[in-house]
Amino acid sequence: MIAPPFTDHALVLFSGGQDSATCLAWALARYPHVETIGFTYGQRHAIEMECRAPIRDALAGPGLGPDHIVDLAATIASLGRTALTEDVAITMTEEGLPNTFVPGRNLLFLTCAAAIAYRRGLRRIVAGMCETDYSGYPDCRDDTIKAMQLALNLGLQRRLVLETPLMWRDKAATWELARTLGGDTLVETIREHSHSCYLGDRTQRHDWGYGCGACPACDLRADGWRRWREPG
Ligand code: ZN
Repeated sequence: MIAPPFTDHALVLFSGGQDSATCLAWALARYPHVETIGFTYGQRHAIEMECRAPIRDALAGPGLGPDHIVDLAATIASLGRTALTEDVAITMTEEGLPNTFVPGRNLLFLTCAAAIAYRRGLRRIVAGMCETDYSGYPDCRDDTIKAMQLALNLGLQRRLVLETPLMWRDKAATWELARTLGGDTLVETIREHSHSCYLGDRTQRHDWGYGCGACPACDLRADGWRRWREPG
């Protein structure tokens, strides 16, 4: 086995989705010790949390450390309703954002991750935010992540590094990254076990994985798969 190129230890924001599963494989290829963190926040697609264990098992090796679960359900619920956490139709808001946007969610996630990283002595925080092929969430933007890194380092007196390997990759390129990292075996693990669908539907199997096939998350995933499989 080739030694990982960096000696730093990492913490991966791991939701059980396609992006974070790819990020976990990416981190395991680079860092000798990788831990994961996941959040329960009353998400309608809480089934994604059940998808985490099979993916972790498939990627398990000497470099994979413990998993941390942070329960933010009461916090997020008390901040207000969104289509990601309530049974309402997914629509666009007047600001041009899907109403699945949970204001501040990723900022909260990164702050919690930084607290765990601080306590566990992990220098790298790896997250799957993407500005290229995303739902328009402002907290996925590269500038947001860079500003958070600065704020967290000032607030915690640390030199944490926030890494977002998917920031400039579209969904097709994310599938390609998975193949580069782990070949068809990893692609198959992600296709079968990762979960993207906002509605939590795992009853319908498509060639790109499970999902309702109609929500924005399914649309993105299906489109990326199709473009990766049939370029041009
Ligand atoms: Zn869906």
